[in-house]
Amino acid sequence: MPELPDVELFKRYFDATALHQTIETVEIRNDIILKDCSIQTLESALVGQTFAGTERHGKYLFVEVKDSNWLVLHFGMTGDLKYFKKPDKEPDYSQLLIGFSNDYHLAYILPRKLGRVRLTEAVGPFLERNRIGPDALKSDFTVADFQEIMAGTRSMVKSALMDQKKMAGIGNVYADEILFQASLHPKTKANDLDEEALEDLFKTMKDVLETAIEHRADPGQFPDSWLTPHRNEQATCPRCGTDIEQIKASGRSTYYCPTCQKQM
Ligand SMILES: [Zn+2]
Repeated sequence: MPELPDVELFKRYFDATALHQTIETVEIRNDIILKDCSIQTLESALVGQTFAGTERHGKYLFVEVKDSNWLVLHFGMTGDLKYFKKPDKEPDYSQLLIGFSNDYHLAYILPRKLGRVRLTEAVGPFLERNRIGPDALKSDFTVADFQEIMAGTRSMVKSALMDQKKMAGIGNVYADEILFQASLHPKTKANDLDEEALEDLFKTMKDVLETAIEHRADPGQFPDSWLTPHRNEQATCPRCGTDIEQIKASGRSTYYCPTCQKQM
């Protein structure tokens, strides 16, 4: 579930807590979360160093380690971060625990063990190697880029929004929200949208992501006019009162309003 807005908040949390302190210990609770690196490699990359800064790209959080490789965190379906002092405050499902010289710890929490921790020499080559597209929110991803990508895509617009190789950061929940606010049926073909519709969709995408971050990525705090607080079987559309429908699109549970989001 962590999508771009959630990971942006993890970034801000990391920046506010874990930077510029000497790393003393690195503990891994389950090495299934390590990708392309061993606990020994991770330890020798981190211990004695400090975290110098962070960058977010899509659903990835990159942490710059002074004089070493970058730490790459991906939060899978359920990840979280927690900074705490007392050892008995260690949260459940901590998979990676980093101890600092000020006696605080940073836990990378992963109940379903679907996230991944790895190291990389730099952000750019990592994104290229893994064929991750431009970040959906950053200003260097323009409406012209978006129009070009969508015009060349025959798949459903929902699949295109969620395809991390086309643009990075949007998952199932925010794709549904963006399409609801843009009044587009989730099964609309991307290349059936004209330039104007794509410009609207692009603006809606940026607005949904920014507004979600402002509301702490917490559906309970989202405006009631949004779809996300109404993602359940009995819900009605906050705009028109029609029953919200659930279908499968791109293999995922998709919620939409059949009145506001007509298929073209
Ligand atoms: Zn409606």
